[in-house]
Amino acid sequence: MEVCANLGDSAGAATAVALGAEGVGLLRSEFVFLDSPCAPDLVAQEAEYRRVLDALEGRPLVVRTLDVGGDKPLPYWPIPHEANPYLGVRGIRLTLQRPQIFETQLRALLRAADGRPLRIMSPMVGLVEEWRQARDLALALRAEYDCADLQLGIMVEVPSAALLAPALAQEVDFFSIGTNDLTQYALAIDRGHPSLSGQADGLHPAVLQLIDMTVRAAHAHGKWVGICGELAADAQALPVLLGLGVDELSVSARSIPLVKQGVRELDQARARELAQAALGLASAGEVRALVSNALGEDR
Ligand code: PEP
Ligand code: MG
Repeated sequence: MEVCANLGDSAGAATAVALGAEGVGLLRSEFVFLDSPCAPDLVAQEAEYRRVLDALEGRPLVVRTLDVGGDKPLPYWPIPHEANPYLGVRGIRLTLQRPQIFETQLRALLRAADGRPLRIMSPMVGLVEEWRQARDLALALRAEYDCADLQLGIMVEVPSAALLAPALAQEVDFFSIGTNDLTQYALAIDRGHPSLSGQADGLHPAVLQLIDMTVRAAHAHGKWVGICGELAADAQALPVLLGLGVDELSVSARSIPLVKQGVRELDQARARELAQAALGLASAGEVRALVSNALGEDR
């Protein structure tokens, strides 16, 4: 199990490495766009991505392409009002509507790579056509740059992506499960809802089933799976995620030492049994009770 860092800026990469990050598992590239009064050009973007890759000194960088729209509009990129922004034009849906902006971001990433390990993933993929369009654009550009160690994948945040994992796994290089959005969409609970968000628990067996499907499909095709939502840093989720066979956890830099310690203390065979039992339960509360009993017995 690799433990990597989630980053929302380029300055934090060196600290993440100092805290033990084995790579960056999620670079939320929105910061490059949000910190700018107009769409950032190729040179400005390349400098940011290069800064992260330099700090990583050969460790892999997983970048999420621009994930705005819906509830997160950019001032220079007006989006018509939507009644249901979380179900509207956001993430990959938005960038595919503006191929010029998407292409500039991909070029900046490929230029910054310089042969170093770069993984590019698209957010909010729910349809195979979205993945294929994004992949085709990246592959068309790739030939122009020195990008020997490139992988292309998707974030699994929309339940349809997990349900389609057996088909998608034949085409992607990796999956990264965004449990924040996956939980929101699987349970139909707004992740920021003032009274309901507490019930949006990624340890809900329905979410675990989607994670399990994704991991099994990926491994059947020799692909890897990361978790980059908040669940990855949840101590009670750790044995379950290890037991489901997840290959990488990506968490905030400050959580890395604790997560690494937690992983080291776990027994793989017991974690597998626990995960299987969790998949058969009916609520997040039942899963949490099961894990806390199991962890209690270990002490
Ligand atoms: C997620 O949805 O789990 C995720 C990592 O993306 P974000 O929280 O930025 O939407
Ligand atoms: Mg998300």
